[in-house]
Amino acid sequence: MKNIIPIVPVRNAPDYTRLPVFGKPDHRHMELIIKPTEACNFKCTFCSSTDITDEKSKVLDLESIYAFLQRFPGTQTIIVNGGDPLMVKPQYYWEIIKYIEDHDLQTSLSFTTNLWAFYKKPEMWEELFRHPRMGVTTSFNYGTTRRITETEVFTEEIFRKVSDKFLERIGYRPDFISVITDENEDTAIDNVKLAQEMDVECKLNYAMSSGVQSAPYQLSKIYRTYTEIYEQGLWPWEFNTKQMMQRLDGKATSCPQHRACDEGIRCLQPSGDYYSCGSFGDDRQYPINFKQEVLEGKFFKPLQTAPELTMLKEECLTCPMFNICNGCRKTVNDMKNHGVVETHCKLMKTIAGKIISINDQASTITIDRMPKLGFRKYESQSVTDGVAQQAR
Ligand code: SF4
Ligand code: SF4
Repeated sequence: MKNIIPIVPVRNAPDYTRLPVFGKPDHRHMELIIKPTEACNFKCTFCSSTDITDEKSKVLDLESIYAFLQRFPGTQTIIVNGGDPLMVKPQYYWEIIKYIEDHDLQTSLSFTTNLWAFYKKPEMWEELFRHPRMGVTTSFNYGTTRRITETEVFTEEIFRKVSDKFLERIGYRPDFISVITDENEDTAIDNVKLAQEMDVECKLNYAMSSGVQSAPYQLSKIYRTYTEIYEQGLWPWEFNTKQMMQRLDGKATSCPQHRACDEGIRCLQPSGDYYSCGSFGDDRQYPINFKQEVLEGKFFKPLQTAPELTMLKEECLTCPMFNICNGCRKTVNDMKNHGVVETHCKLMKTIAGKIISINDQASTITIDRMPKLGFRKYESQSVTDGVAQQAR
């Protein structure tokens, strides 16, 4: 696949074709999350990525990305979040595309961005966003938690203008992520109705405990919402409900519902710190030694080898909800650290019958995958789907 525009090399860019990578190429399917910068032009009250580097103006070195791609040439997607990806100039991403195409890789780029910089200056981004390797997902939720400034809320009216501009300049409407917290839970399902009306898919994520979000949103409460979405027939427009519908028979294994995620996901942060999970990266917990894995050819599974992340409690081992309650080791970590396991468990047991019945019903229907762009593009993959959008 060739670029649609000529690439002008970044001045003084290193000759990355001669990077000293000694680790034998490993051709497994991987997803690489990159957080090029911590900088963001929004001031959301739930932001998980407010302390991902000590050097606040630092931008992730391209050389680290190239070294990763040399070690893992089977990388399917580079998932770009941050910070907001559009706080870095387009040339940064053109360089990555150039590397991918020069090396004949199959890798795509998937952005999760508030699109504010695009809205203000679309001509700066439209060529990149139209590139065949690019997918863009944005974010919106009702309530007052998503903010342009500390006092100005990103309202539905403004969001519609941004989405309209994207449709007009790029040719499709982007899917969107909604982050659910105690403050906006009463409007959670309204986001799905909006997605239905706009003919896109949304992903209702529960807030994890990272950055300025001090406590996690209760997992069983979001599952109660997913069951309501199913009952209201809105599931074709919500990603995580579809995951829940297939979760008990093991078909759905997207982040944040993959117990072996550390075999297929990696995350590079602005200072080059390296993790197997973007959310643990936000906390700077469970790092991986980049030199040993990427340059020296070792491979680590930092989450599966941490016994404290295995499950919420012993009782889970014999419970039919095991896969759901213990599907994400970051969530296990959050719930244990905040002492909310029993509160969560009590509610989960009241909705377990419903979830089992929904999974039984779903086994007889075809779940509409609606492959388009954004996260729908990756929905049929098995290991790391949805990872781009967790906790954004
Ligand atoms: S958020 Fe959970 S499922 Fe996703 S990569 Fe992190 S630990 Fe794994
Ligand atoms: S419902 Fe309770 S016992 Fe069952 S898996 Fe969830 S937390 Fe564990």
